[in-house]
Amino acid sequence: MSTLVYVEHHEGEPVKGSLGVLGKVAQLGDDVAAAVLLGAGVEGMAEEVGRHGASRVFVADDPALEAPLPQPRVDVLAKLVESEGFDNVVFGASVLASDVAAGLAARLEAGLNWDLVDLELKDGKLVGRRPALGDSVIAEVGWKSEPRLALIRSGTFEPVEAGGGSAEVAKVPVEIQDFSKQAVMVEQAHEESQGPSIEDADVIVAGGRGLGQPENFSLVEDLAKALGGAVAATRAVVDAGWYPYSTQVGQTGKTVSPKLYIACGISGAIQHKVGMQGSGTIVAINKDPNAPIFEYSDLAVVGDVHEIVPKLTELVREKRGS
Ligand SMILES: Cc1cc2nc3c(=O)[nH]c(=O)nc-3n(C[C@H](O)[C@H](O)[C@H](O)COP(=O)(O)OP(=O)(O)OC[C@H]3O[C@@H](n4cnc5c(N)ncnc54)[C@H](O)[C@@H]3O)c2cc1C
Repeated sequence: MSTLVYVEHHEGEPVKGSLGVLGKVAQLGDDVAAAVLLGAGVEGMAEEVGRHGASRVFVADDPALEAPLPQPRVDVLAKLVESEGFDNVVFGASVLASDVAAGLAARLEAGLNWDLVDLELKDGKLVGRRPALGDSVIAEVGWKSEPRLALIRSGTFEPVEAGGGSAEVAKVPVEIQDFSKQAVMVEQAHEESQGPSIEDADVIVAGGRGLGQPENFSLVEDLAKALGGAVAATRAVVDAGWYPYSTQVGQTGKTVSPKLYIACGISGAIQHKVGMQGSGTIVAINKDPNAPIFEYSDLAVVGDVHEIVPKLTELVREKRGS
């Protein structure tokens, strides 16, 4: 069986989510775990991709692929999958990867299983695992035809360096269909942020409705800064416009797995839990001793965030001498 992993990249670096998916595919013990890089000026990343588990890295390096648009990528991928006869194509979810996966499924008339949180080989067959019913159960899913396409929930697998970067690099011809040139990128903007992103941070301090008002997010920002971490939020507060959507953790937000997750004024609804339950240590501060978050916290602090969080920040600053 052979599997191709679509490796997304940002500012000249392969993204962590794609490398994590590649590591998982390489561990499946599949016959071939290959990767593909599509873009302009991407060849330099092939070695790093090889170090993360790909035995072959296909590179489509062409100005026509510079803009992060799905259809030109679908053109190149569809030909590659057909010419090399890949059995499986696996993507780490992102806005672009989801578009590409859907486009490829339509082009190849292939089945796409999405939002998977695990993959395994059972009796030589690829099986995916997908949370269902509000993430309260895990369903095993399969495919009725080939190639099998799989989209993995973001943040599911950590990257693992597997080898010495000795992957064979193969150049892929780039031919773009006329209809794929119809959409053009007019403008691209980057969000400016200080400190680590919530996907990469070892420490996350998250705020919920218990903070009372948007201005009180400064409490979690100060603590996150003192700990060198990132700030996250619940859907309730991003829906209320208190904090940006990009920081939302949970079922309809991001999945994170920091070493330490400090939840401040968060009730711990199932939809929030599924996005952060993989964290190493969970500390929750909530004034309600019966808050659901305490059921899955390692340390439960019953009290008012407005009193506890500033004191905690002060203590951290004192300890760190900052
Ligand atoms: C389809 C669907 C998808 C969803 N997706 C997500 C998602 O991705 N992420 C997500 O987070 N939610 C999601 N939700 C919403 C989720 O169900 C909850 O409504 C939400 O997580 C609650 O946010 P919260 O904990 O900030 O607010 P609340 O549930 O209102 O909790 C506030 C908590 O703060 C405590 N508190 C109040 N004052 C203080 C104080 N002074 N000091 C200490 N504690 C205090 C309260 O005791 C309470 O426990 C989704 C819901 C649906 C239906």
